[in-house]
Amino acid sequence: MTEIDVPKIIVTPPGPNAKKILEEDETFLMQSFVRWYPLVLKEAKGCILTDVDGNKYIDLNAGIAVTSVGHCHPKVVEAIKRQAEKYLHYSLTDFWYDVAVELAKKLCKITPGDFQKRVFLCNSGAEAVEGAMKVARGYFKGSRPYIMAYIGAFHGRLFGSVTLTSSKPVQRKWFAPLLPSVEHVPYPYCYRCPWKQRYPECGYWCVDFIDEYYFKKFVPPDETSCIVFEPIQGEGGYIVPPPEYWSKIRKLCDNYGILMISDEVQSGMGRTGKWFAIENWNVTPDLITVAKGIAAGLPLGAVIGRADVMSLPRGSHASTFGGNPVSCAAASAVIDVIEEERLMENAVKIGDYAMKRFREMAEKIELIGDIRGKGLMIGVELVKDRKSKEPAVKELESFLINCFKRGVAVIGCGVSSIRISPPLNISIELMDKALSIMEEVLLEIDKSRSK
Ligand code: PLP
Repeated sequence: MTEIDVPKIIVTPPGPNAKKILEEDETFLMQSFVRWYPLVLKEAKGCILTDVDGNKYIDLNAGIAVTSVGHCHPKVVEAIKRQAEKYLHYSLTDFWYDVAVELAKKLCKITPGDFQKRVFLCNSGAEAVEGAMKVARGYFKGSRPYIMAYIGAFHGRLFGSVTLTSSKPVQRKWFAPLLPSVEHVPYPYCYRCPWKQRYPECGYWCVDFIDEYYFKKFVPPDETSCIVFEPIQGEGGYIVPPPEYWSKIRKLCDNYGILMISDEVQSGMGRTGKWFAIENWNVTPDLITVAKGIAAGLPLGAVIGRADVMSLPRGSHASTFGGNPVSCAAASAVIDVIEEERLMENAVKIGDYAMKRFREMAEKIELIGDIRGKGLMIGVELVKDRKSKEPAVKELESFLINCFKRGVAVIGCGVSSIRISPPLNISIELMDKALSIMEEVLLEIDKSRSK
């Protein structure tokens, strides 16, 4: 499969083979997923997807920010095979193995912070976040039960992590009561400032609010163990906070002795051009959570943090499959590939190019309200009109389906934003093709609205 023949739609999706699987999926699987359009995968290589009817798509999703080194990267597949032939499992809960230590050493090396670190390995993003919550509460021996999170956040769907999550009511509906002592504050979403202020004249009121209202009138800071945050809000809309935001939060945390937990499940592993997105703000968190892009699609999560904080006692936290050896081998290979193939540089190069093209599109397409991002984590917010900023929800749906029908697999985030998160090794030629198709679709939707 070469990039020249892509995209290629030979039968309007869903084709006959896809339809059969869609039907059986509906019968046999619980339908609690999101699912934007009927893409039924047969094969994925690099940045190209082939469906069960032979259609080929450019992948701007990476299996939602997971296959960062491209689908089935040969070095990762080789590492998986090599490990699979040695042993598949022997639980870290009770025993030891080398690939876990090798990976932990690499993770300690690539995470920010010039201090001794330790790693906890688990299976997913939600598990990593919940592990970090327990580490934080445990570090204070239960004396600081409160956890601060952000409105619009996504941290997972298990009971602890879904308590932090607040990007859509459906994620919580019917599941209360959730975890007590978790409170939320507004995220610094400058395009739609919750206080209707403007950056930079606002003087970072969003930070002062936390101190003056949240901590001084509501939640005792000396009973708060940690602040859990996404350095760039992912599911909430690929929202990038202003330049000094995280350093101001760091100061606030230091003032009250609160731990900063950067949830890098979506933004980490090189996606923004740095190993971890928080590095774009030159801030060092106490703990970092990682999953998604860490093992090229194999299930793995990790908490990496200050060795003195990562101090839960024996028997207090573990999971049978956590740090599976095959996943660890894949993750080690992923780190090597990102370094050897300079994928963070590529993420910046292609990301800057895509942002530039979206800005050019915005000159003629009124539907585009805001363009934001870092590296290959780009959000394009669609609005019905630029003055009212009313979210263009239906237009986003139509955009995603029409792109899919023309061979570009891209999904949304937030209320009405396009989410661009392709593999980090996408070529400029392939991104260019995808951008031209997206432009075509946006122009059509924009024109049909003005009729
Ligand atoms: N944290 C963030 C920032 C995420 O984006 C996600 C998933 O989208 C999670 C946590 C949960 O990860 P998982 O789906 O692996 O549980």
